[in-house]
Amino acid sequence: MIADQLIDRRQFYINGSWVDPAAANDAEVIDPSTEEACAVISFGSQADTDAAVAAADAAFDSWSQTSLDERVALLEKLLELYVARADEMAAAISMEMGAPIALAKTAQFGAGAFHIQTFIAALKNFEFERPLGDHAPGDRILYEPVGVCALITPWNWPMNQVTLKVVPALGVGCTMVLKPSEVAPLSSMLFAEMIDEAGFPPGVFNLVNGDGLGVGTQLSGHSDVDMVSFTGSTRAGVAITKNAADSVKRVALELGGKGANIIFADADEKAVTRGVRQCFNNSGQSCNAPTRMLVQRPIYDEAIATATKVAEQTAVDIASAEGRHIGPVVNKVQFDKIQALIAKGEDEGATLLAGGTGRPAGHDSGYFVRPTVFGDVTPDMTIANEEIFGPVLSILPFDSEEEAIAIANDTAYGLTNYVQTTDNDRARRVARRLRSGMVEMNGQSRGAGSPFGGYGQSGNGREGGVWGLEEFLEVKSISGWNEA
Ligand code: NAD
Repeated sequence: MIADQLIDRRQFYINGSWVDPAAANDAEVIDPSTEEACAVISFGSQADTDAAVAAADAAFDSWSQTSLDERVALLEKLLELYVARADEMAAAISMEMGAPIALAKTAQFGAGAFHIQTFIAALKNFEFERPLGDHAPGDRILYEPVGVCALITPWNWPMNQVTLKVVPALGVGCTMVLKPSEVAPLSSMLFAEMIDEAGFPPGVFNLVNGDGLGVGTQLSGHSDVDMVSFTGSTRAGVAITKNAADSVKRVALELGGKGANIIFADADEKAVTRGVRQCFNNSGQSCNAPTRMLVQRPIYDEAIATATKVAEQTAVDIASAEGRHIGPVVNKVQFDKIQALIAKGEDEGATLLAGGTGRPAGHDSGYFVRPTVFGDVTPDMTIANEEIFGPVLSILPFDSEEEAIAIANDTAYGLTNYVQTTDNDRARRVARRLRSGMVEMNGQSRGAGSPFGGYGQSGNGREGGVWGLEEFLEVKSISGWNEA
């Protein structure tokens, strides 16, 4: 029996229908604002994973042969349905992972709409067949769908990550099994309803819920899965890669980050405030968050004062409250991890400027973390190296450009770094030296269709735009091609 008020989402979407799990295995979804269950889902078993993979496998032959026009028309329908159910989607995201409703309605929901739109545009311009070059007129290069894909996603930007995988996979003619995060599965189940309503053929898209050790591992090791596209922790990325090796499947990884935000003395006056807000956005739960603020010595004291003030002014409240504030972090595991890292920062001698351990005043329950800023952080400290995934900023002083570059690159990760300076020559020079998949300068976000991904332990994939399409494509080289 489940309580009346719980949303019942125990079915899976397999072969075009909502079906019961092969064996009952209920799991609760916890609302992080209240610490109470808000929904119940099922964790799948091997039989469910096999059924979903078999459906995807069976659908591949015909789906991979459909025309691009046909697939784009279905994606356009999907976009229409997604936009029509914006409020429902925002509410699901806000409840399952704690994003304030205003953020859920804008950036969280919006990322999904943006990616569907952007991929439709990229697909329309993509040359699936092209000549090798004038020197080899009989050669043809074909881009073909890689096959059955397992798509494994995290909870922090649920629709962002799901659309970055599902949409290009659908668009190029792959079939798939999505395993969303067990922590935040509700938005994905709503998305599955939209895919169903849009009219994609049965088996092209399937969804099975479960955890990493269960369905996640079953998918990454499955002999009928041709590719795993994964976003999440570096720990899980390593496990998936090893498990996928026996069947030599393609593995695309989007993992964690520890972004440096280099603020030179000549940076624009809003640079520090912007950096703190960006770090705290989504309660610090973004892989590309600028969590290490590197400040040049002449403006260090001023930056410390500004960052402290911004943190103290950052309101914390439940996800359903309207207005500008940050919500809770996603669950108890993350809450405990963040608390331990804040304590570690103090133990290792960083200066606590704002926030600290414990819940913010007025929040005795819910996974709320105090917006925290540490100053005088040194590169060897744990908080300068580990991804905290909470509203915790570390500020490190530097003197020279060389030193800033060295500190920024002194990390196992390499996702997004940030540069703030009004000296354009320096901006370009530093951007070239940073070992990361992305560099954002002077508050300008990256344009539509740009590739998202990292160096080093931030992963090996590139999502978005043409790069996001190519991830799901095989390249075939044909000679003796004659157009006559
Ligand atoms: P997680 O790795 O614990 O889980 C992510 C997904 O992987 C979930 O669906 C989970 O069930 C599954 N999973 C876990 N272990 C698995 C295993 N052994 N085999 C197969 N599947 C497994 O991560 P999380 O806590 O959900 O997400 C937070 C992490 O994601 C952070 O480290 C963050 O930086 C990273 N992230 C990266 C990007 C990026 O694009 N680079 C974007 C967002 C989040």
